[in-house]
Amino acid sequence: MGDVIKFIRIILFLLVFINVGFAQEVPSDLLNELTKSEFLQKDLQELCDQIGGRVTGSKSNEKAIEWAYSKLREAKVKVWKQDFEMPVMWDEKASKFRISGDLNFRPLAVAKYQTMPGNYVGRLIDVGMGTEEEVAQVTEELKDNFALVETDLCFDIDGLFNEYIHASKVEALLREKKVKGIVFMASRPQKLLYRFIPSKVTENDLPQFVMAREDAKRCQRSIRIGKQLNFLTTVKAEIGGKFTSSNILAEIPGTELKEEVILIGAHLDSWALGTGANDNGCNVSMLIDIARQLKKLNLKPKRTIRFALWNGEEQGYFGSWAYTKQNQSSLDNHKMAMSVDIGSGEIIGFFTNGREDLTSLMNTLVKPIDPDSSLTMINVPIVGTDNFDFMLEGIPNLVASHKPASYGINYHASSDTYDKVDLKSLKQNTKLIASVLWLYANADPKFINLPRNSRKEIESIFQKFDLEFSMRMFNVWDSWKNGQRGRVE
Ligand SMILES: [Zn+2]
Repeated sequence: MGDVIKFIRIILFLLVFINVGFAQEVPSDLLNELTKSEFLQKDLQELCDQIGGRVTGSKSNEKAIEWAYSKLREAKVKVWKQDFEMPVMWDEKASKFRISGDLNFRPLAVAKYQTMPGNYVGRLIDVGMGTEEEVAQVTEELKDNFALVETDLCFDIDGLFNEYIHASKVEALLREKKVKGIVFMASRPQKLLYRFIPSKVTENDLPQFVMAREDAKRCQRSIRIGKQLNFLTTVKAEIGGKFTSSNILAEIPGTELKEEVILIGAHLDSWALGTGANDNGCNVSMLIDIARQLKKLNLKPKRTIRFALWNGEEQGYFGSWAYTKQNQSSLDNHKMAMSVDIGSGEIIGFFTNGREDLTSLMNTLVKPIDPDSSLTMINVPIVGTDNFDFMLEGIPNLVASHKPASYGINYHASSDTYDKVDLKSLKQNTKLIASVLWLYANADPKFINLPRNSRKEIESIFQKFDLEFSMRMFNVWDSWKNGQRGRVE
């Protein structure tokens, strides 16, 4: 019976080989072990519940680094730490907020990243959505006071991007008016709070806040019937200058092409209102389990599969940026770099980040595991996660594209906790990602040796997709333009 099955397997293998030119199939043992494994769930629960939210530089982030390192060590996977420098430290503690004047109550609110600790007081001025016309009507009152900015409700990933764009435009406009600070109405109801980065990120100098939607609406309605309100806050945050953080790197060494690297990353850090479950603990656990099962089964890919648990992602992809700087001499050997950072909804394809060649490669590569062509490649460049510096280095880079599930509504929020993770999809995703890695790491060189893009080619992708605004919005445009990050030529 065993021989018959073996024979059928060889035939299937040859069929796949003849059809698509990839002399590989995904080992069924790997898929079986990943299906059976209880580690995925257990690790995630530990990381979220026992360690919790983990802002880079915080004690819990340090714990998460040690935790990830020991998980991989216990699995006997080759693992090491890669130190890098973070420019500043900021982690909010229990700030206090009050509305005084014609109303007196304590709204729920949080400070945005890099709002400096201290006491702030000012009148709260309603600027509606913060359009030029609306702001022009209250220009006189805005100086040295706080602008209250309305937001659209946000339910999904499109909503999130719109919120970033809106906030960035309003911030620029209000800076010109010399406001003391900005209070954004939370875009999600039920008094849900979430952390947001200002558009100057680590260089931010303007106090900014997110106020619970219901509280902000109450203020807005009151101002609109002529009440005068003051916004008072005592911001408490742990702050500091440069410090050292670490990525955790691990690998399953390749055999005949071991110098060549297939890289996959998920970020270990998170904001601290929730416990970083969908963003991005679920995918950290995923990568650890894939590495664990590959090692346990002693599977040896042709190329090296390297796993990166990035740090400092939320502040501007500092860990992955540092990796590209510290590995300049071997970047030519990085055949692909993938990020998984959009939660635990079912993976439905991949963003191919402006590269036609990668799009068609991926369509061919996944055929053996996707006979019905249900995976969709989207040739749009993603700015906002750890694929970014690989894109700037011209390396073929992918971002997994997921069904939205509960990612958007819980994004960076106090509700991003273990119970929001879709464990069933996460399990399926783990098998899919393991399969893609395996196929990539074993593919015929003539199929996967895509050239690195030159600076000129990268620039033309940015132009084609009009990326300047989003890069400015995440404060990464200048560092690309002045040659601090990315390819020089
Ligand atoms: Zn993330």
